[in-house]
Amino acid sequence: MLSAGVDVGSLATKAVVLDASRLRIVAGVRIPSGASPQDAGGRALEQALSEADIDIESLSAIVATGYGRESLSFAHSTVTEITCAARGAHMLDPHARTVVDIGGQDSKAIGVDAEGYPLDFALNDRCAAGTGRFLEVMAGALETDVDGLERLAVEADEVAQIARTCTVFAESEVVGLLAGGTDRRSVAAGLCRAVALRTSGLVLQVGVEPPVMLVGGVAKNGAIARELGAVLKTELVVPDEPQLVVAIGAALVAAERALEMHTGHSMEDEA
Ligand code: ADP
Repeated sequence: MLSAGVDVGSLATKAVVLDASRLRIVAGVRIPSGASPQDAGGRALEQALSEADIDIESLSAIVATGYGRESLSFAHSTVTEITCAARGAHMLDPHARTVVDIGGQDSKAIGVDAEGYPLDFALNDRCAAGTGRFLEVMAGALETDVDGLERLAVEADEVAQIARTCTVFAESEVVGLLAGGTDRRSVAAGLCRAVALRTSGLVLQVGVEPPVMLVGGVAKNGAIARELGAVLKTELVVPDEPQLVVAIGAALVAAERALEMHTGHSMEDEA
């Protein structure tokens, strides 16, 4: 049984095709969201179908999630990112009890129960501080990109202190530190620590129930994952494709809903 999940995020749109009977990811793509969430969602799904070498008719259901989820006319239903993050994380590691999602313009901490459903969550969607957008701006100030920022951070001997959390003020602070002769690598390490500290406040609002899984595009930065683990005093689990986890959760919900429609049974009944 094949299903699809499309996650239209603020900066990136992700699509996953899932073979739900074997819990196997058949295809996963991510493209920039651009100005039209509907176009991005359609293109991401098309690319995932072509990667999986199937037609849209082969899908039992499509679920949309993410901030642009309501704009996708081809989706059969929509689900919040909170539920999808919890479902996707649980599929990849059924032990996960806390999921931290750092995306392009928001971050979330979600407490997850033993069945992979959200118990509680805390959300920052008011401010770019501590998100992917923050890292992009800071990478620009360091004349690199988000991947380069991590490479610089891991080479640092010292960690510069970044006192300001606001993206605009922190950027001025970074420019000032560089002008004052602070090593770029130390500044990069300081920025990773700043994101980890900012995120830890959110996690503490829901409580640190291990294992903690880190997902979202920013989870690809290993320095942030290590810093966050150190602040929370627990090792973080980072899946292979952290940016696809919410779309994986959407595809799983799609499969569950299709099964319920056709049999009147839930996947849990079948298990
Ligand atoms: P959204 O769903 O809000 O669009 P995503 O979870 O797709 O967010 O993550 C997108 C963000 O991830 C972007 O801001 C991007 O800069 C960031 N990102 C992508 N790759 C990396 C990386 N290697 N290190 C840190 N951040 C990254």
